[in-house]
Amino acid sequence: MGFERPINRALLTMEHYALGIDIGGTTTTFGVVSKQGEIIFEEEIKTKDYETANLLLAQIHTILSEKSLIENLLGIGIGAPNGNSKTGQIEFAPNLQWKGIVAICKIAEDIFLRPAILINDANAAAIGEKMFGAARNCENFVSITLGTGLGSGVFINNELVEGQHGFAGEFGHIRVIPQGRLCGCGRKGCLETYASSTGVVKTLNEWTVDNLSLKKKYKNFHAHDIFNAAQNGDDLCMKIVNYTAEILGNALADFACFSDPQMYVLFGGIAQSGDFFTEKVNQHMEANLLKVLENKIQIVTSQLHHQNAAVLGTAASIFWRSIKKA
Ligand SMILES: [Zn+2]
Repeated sequence: MGFERPINRALLTMEHYALGIDIGGTTTTFGVVSKQGEIIFEEEIKTKDYETANLLLAQIHTILSEKSLIENLLGIGIGAPNGNSKTGQIEFAPNLQWKGIVAICKIAEDIFLRPAILINDANAAAIGEKMFGAARNCENFVSITLGTGLGSGVFINNELVEGQHGFAGEFGHIRVIPQGRLCGCGRKGCLETYASSTGVVKTLNEWTVDNLSLKKKYKNFHAHDIFNAAQNGDDLCMKIVNYTAEILGNALADFACFSDPQMYVLFGGIAQSGDFFTEKVNQHMEANLLKVLENKIQIVTSQLHHQNAAVLGTAASIFWRSIKKA
């Protein structure tokens, strides 16, 4: 191991890179990212192959050392399930084999001799968008990730809003339908049970439950199948897209009351269908906005789709912090 390697100050002033590490239950992806948002090296390892976080991070260090990519690192941004950004610890993550509390930032700092930040994926996406994506030069925006759930990161007055416990901007769990669908959080009617890839499939299942032939026709449809079919003129799928856009657009109109954004940046599989969906969301948002905000808020799609947004976002959090501290 190269733990003894001293920090080379001269090199650090030449060019700075940040290491982004996205730890998932199955796979950990990591990458070295330049200040311009270019991923200069990226690799994947199996999380389950490492009994402890220490071993996993030591392996990443070894791989990067062999490529001489350690010297110019400014810091390490880490995304992980059940990550607490306030304490820098992973706390009781059900999807990881590392049990209890894991002081991931401390471990990373000991191994890499660089500062480490733990950040949740929704906030990492927002910072990625701010540094390298659609929200460059934008001081007030909300990024919305439409994936398995709905994650959101909020920038107000050029600051990422974290709140007292780090949970500010959890728009996915704002309840939009009274006594609606049961959510993973244990409550009912949360936005993410409707506006997410999972939500879209739930809508299909609900709407076809009593019709055997329809059930058969749309068997095994994922969200992207529904969106593709809608674009190809399928009536039922188009209704589902419209319904999803209506619920999301309505919600975005309400969120504007407390974040007053210049733009919403939509990210994730559903958003990737592009203008087709965002235009519908925009219509429903405009129809429900406060008069003073009408025609003032843009809905755009992410510019990070074509790259590994998790690596970019976690790395971007290092650059962002260095800018804020400067
Ligand atoms: Zn919920």
